[in-house]
Amino acid sequence: MEPNTIQLVAIPERCYRCGQLTRGIVGVLAPTSRGHVFREFDDVSAALAQVLQPDDLATVRIGPIKVRRSRHRGAHLSNGCVVCGAILGSFPLWESLQEELSRGRSLRDFVVACPLGTL
Ligand SMILES: [Zn+2]
Repeated sequence: MEPNTIQLVAIPERCYRCGQLTRGIVGVLAPTSRGHVFREFDDVSAALAQVLQPDDLATVRIGPIKVRRSRHRGAHLSNGCVVCGAILGSFPLWESLQEELSRGRSLRDFVVACPLGTL
């Protein structure tokens, strides 16, 4: 793993609004003294929004992490389509990941390394 990158677990999706391919972050593989642990997006979204730059995210087809509104959750930090900005909800992304894992794929198959921006 490159220094100064973060390992995002991101699911490729076709955007329901614009039809373009985008990725939504389901979580991160966070380094610990005993290897990496998976942390869910909603638990780390505030930290991710601070350290990941929209331009860097766009190079791996991930939209900016920012506050968007949804009917169920109101305003909250969320994933969005890299092309049109449509909200990508955490729960549907989580379900997509579970579906892929149930087909025998692993978290590692969805890891995308993204550079950490300078604060
Ligand atoms: Zn879109």
